[in-house]
Amino acid sequence: MRVLEKAPAKINLSLDVLRKRQDGFHEVRMIMTTIDLADRVELVDISPNEIRIVSHNRFVPDDQRNLAYQAAKLLKDRFNIERGVSISITKTIPVAAGLAGGSSDAAATLRGLNKLWKLGLTLDDLAKLGAEIGSDVSFCVYGGTALATGRGEMIQQIDPPPHCWVVLAKPTIGVSTADVYRNLNLQTVQHPDVDGMVNALHNNHYEKICSLMGNVLEDVTLRMHPEVANIKEQMKRFGADAVLMSGSGPTVFGLVQYESRLPRVYNGLRGFCDQVFAVRMLGERNILD
Ligand code: ATP
Repeated sequence: MRVLEKAPAKINLSLDVLRKRQDGFHEVRMIMTTIDLADRVELVDISPNEIRIVSHNRFVPDDQRNLAYQAAKLLKDRFNIERGVSISITKTIPVAAGLAGGSSDAAATLRGLNKLWKLGLTLDDLAKLGAEIGSDVSFCVYGGTALATGRGEMIQQIDPPPHCWVVLAKPTIGVSTADVYRNLNLQTVQHPDVDGMVNALHNNHYEKICSLMGNVLEDVTLRMHPEVANIKEQMKRFGADAVLMSGSGPTVFGLVQYESRLPRVYNGLRGFCDQVFAVRMLGERNILD
């Protein structure tokens, strides 16, 4: 048997870090929303009792370091599954980009294996299991739009953003999330208004959403990699309504309300970055059910 799952990326419309916890994780409050940029995860039964990863992408590990492998291993161990599976991952989401690509592949693997192995688990069950793999996996199990708290694994669904386009530009630099958090000084940062953003989404107020976009990690990454600031500048210059870095970066995204403006932003950025995408928001509830 064969199961296909879409594994979409997320962006952070708002990302705040409250404090470092005793367990080493950071306490966050962030608003994540799904976008229509997705990897494809294909799960196929194989006869040897093993987990096989096929990805054809040199940046993606094909062993137990792969988050999709960890998702399959977790389900196999927890439910005593003695069956083999081949997990083919066709990557479209840039790797190590702040778009939760690996987490979404893991979430898609959880959803897909739940079907392939007829485990009968709910999305809530899968999200709880996902949190054992990584903080962003829980959100990726549901997709949609959510306020994520705790270390990012506590998910409360909220209203989606209004329909608009998202242009994404990923510079060819690698950003280590651990380095960004290490250089974050919580005494001096400007905290974004996360609750204001929840309200703006509730009121479907596009301009307010644009004006409240904020990410506490952005200044840290911008200091480490000034080229990210340059991309932000260019995206604004070419006409995006609002521009922000996603997660710990380095991907920068811009919102564009009118399709007529899209080619200018997209083509303008193509001159600066090799990985540029123009996609729709996909923030409605139950998009992956
Ligand atoms: P986040 O936004 O959750 O911080 P990210 O988008 O910055 O994540 P990923 O694309 O998930 O980062 O990749 C981070 C690292 O995880 C990569 O360097 C890669 O070695 C490893 N990795 C493990 N599994 C995967 C996967 N399925 N796809 C991509 N990278 C993976």
